[in-house]
Amino acid sequence: MQTAANHKFAVPLADGLAVEAVWYPSGTLCLSTQAGCALRCPFCASGASGLRRNLHVDELWQQVEQARQHGHAIARLTLSGIGEPLHNLANVADFVHSCATQGLPVSLTSTGSPPQSLPELLALPHNGVMLSLHAGIAATHRRLLPHAADLEEIWSTFDSSLTTLSRRSRRKLGINYLLLAGVNDGAVEIDTLTRRLQPWPELTLHLLTLNPVPGTPWQSPSPATIDALHRQLSAAGINVRRANRWRQQLEGGCGTLVASQRTT
Ligand code: SF4
Repeated sequence: MQTAANHKFAVPLADGLAVEAVWYPSGTLCLSTQAGCALRCPFCASGASGLRRNLHVDELWQQVEQARQHGHAIARLTLSGIGEPLHNLANVADFVHSCATQGLPVSLTSTGSPPQSLPELLALPHNGVMLSLHAGIAATHRRLLPHAADLEEIWSTFDSSLTTLSRRSRRKLGINYLLLAGVNDGAVEIDTLTRRLQPWPELTLHLLTLNPVPGTPWQSPSPATIDALHRQLSAAGINVRRANRWRQQLEGGCGTLVASQRTT
């Protein structure tokens, strides 16, 4: 089944649990790395019940096989669905190495927690790593990712790793920033984030937005505010991009999709 829209599908596991994968018309398949998630970010439905268990390598491939059975052509993979790849690093590393052997590009999204495992993740033969930080200052990071490591620790480890990488390798890395009106779109947040990023012009900053859902206390800033932030960050030398239209469809977005479904 080839469609022009995103296709989110459930993947049943042998023990009765299930995870989700999302195929995008661009040919990207987004996979889950865990059933549930221990990080329980308050804007995320996937982690609301906590961690059930890690997925084995075979269960990562099972998601790929199921997408193929749906008739989807797969050009690349991203481990950006349910779960924190750093909490399942042995299986994730095996999978990424196996993909590299097969010539299948794979990128990852991580909160960078625990930071001591981050260098190992960055050293994998990946096609990109996005750190989901969503905050410029530590207090906001604690509010949005209360079970993640401290923002300063993550940045300290990330900065150290960046100094060891070539410029070409750094170009594959970036920061995800889910914009929430009145929470992390203020001057202090954005100025602090800008100062963090300015030494690393090769990094990409992805500005993500929530899909609007009635009743949620979280809201995206207005389009005018997002435009202004984009211009401000660009003018400061930051390589900044907005979420593309596929991620903003109701049927897609991994972290951004589940972010639209949580109301606490
Ligand atoms: S946003 Fe990602 S890290 Fe946070 S609870 Fe959801 S799946 Fe886990």
